[in-house]
Amino acid sequence: MTSNIDRSNKAANDTGDSSNKAARIHKYQNPLTIEKIAKPSITSGQQVLVKVAASGLCHSDLHLINGEWKDMLTIPLPITPGHEVAGWVEEVGDSVPQGILDKGDLVAIFGGWGCGVCFHCKGGDEQLCKFATWPGLSSFDGGFSEYILVPSYRFLIKVDKKYRLKPEELAPLTDAGLTPYRAIKKVRHLLGPGTSIAVVGIGGLGTYGVQYAKILAPNSNTIAIDHSDAKLQLAEKLGADRTLNLKECQDIKSEIFKITEEKGVNAIIDCVGAEETIRDSARILSKSGVLVVVGLFGNQIGIPLSSSVFNENQVQCSFWGNYNELCEVIELAKQCKIKQIVRAFSLNAINEAIGLLRSGEVEGRAIIVPE
Ligand SMILES: [Zn+2]
Ligand SMILES: [Zn+2]
Repeated sequence: MTSNIDRSNKAANDTGDSSNKAARIHKYQNPLTIEKIAKPSITSGQQVLVKVAASGLCHSDLHLINGEWKDMLTIPLPITPGHEVAGWVEEVGDSVPQGILDKGDLVAIFGGWGCGVCFHCKGGDEQLCKFATWPGLSSFDGGFSEYILVPSYRFLIKVDKKYRLKPEELAPLTDAGLTPYRAIKKVRHLLGPGTSIAVVGIGGLGTYGVQYAKILAPNSNTIAIDHSDAKLQLAEKLGADRTLNLKECQDIKSEIFKITEEKGVNAIIDCVGAEETIRDSARILSKSGVLVVVGLFGNQIGIPLSSSVFNENQVQCSFWGNYNELCEVIELAKQCKIKQIVRAFSLNAINEAIGLLRSGEVEGRAIIVPE
């Protein structure tokens, strides 16, 4: 099977005029280079050229820039990263159905560009497609630039201007605001009255995770776990019922069992995914509790065998989200049901934003905005 996505993005980049400022990886472990590159041009009918309005900076970008994924993702350098993108339609290919997208429309770009015809794509989970690619995490240039070429109109979600959603708020929904949503949907059936859900790591994903916990499981107690007082205060403002600062607590298990009246936590959304947070989670799960791992900091999921079996604990992984889930998340934003914690940086200041994200100093999501 081959993908029906046109992969001519690279070639297109070499043919347009030089009026596309972009922040690019030329060499791993180096600052991004801000430079003018060719503006991409449409080379096949389904493509859409989007003028970037905002692009979220994700921890995955750090892994990529650090070169940690260079063996897993063979990406020809240079590449423009940025996989959480919103913008305005600039131009559409001639086989985009008439009337569905017009120049100037505000769109969110769904990542996880699948082939469209395999089992997973037909089931709606294009992000699980064997051929799935992402802007900025593949040979397709991403959103830290003025323009981005999207291989098909199928990957765009148009947002009517009447909702007054800002692009800086729309962009992070495509990953930071999507990934924890899918994760919590996997466990919401466990979360009735008297239960609890913990969100570990109150960064870009966790700030949404705490809110989705309240929206999708309103009768469950939401516990935010982090090692930063500022981030935990933010979690409280976003609806967390309880907070736990790992820096101040002697033993996470005794603290959590106190909070949960000796039951443990029914569901944990680990937005960090470090080996340490996974070990901690295994100790604080309730009987038949489920750990959902979405963060990618560690290398292994190491949990003790016997207690996991005796307690019938489950570990699930959850990856990204699908197109329909992104539509649902955008609906919540349209109805003003989620608060967006974003801090905008200009494209020229992207390396400063990367430095702040590295040192854990960004509250919510850093958003890169082309000037
Ligand atoms: Zn990401
Ligand atoms: Zn597919």
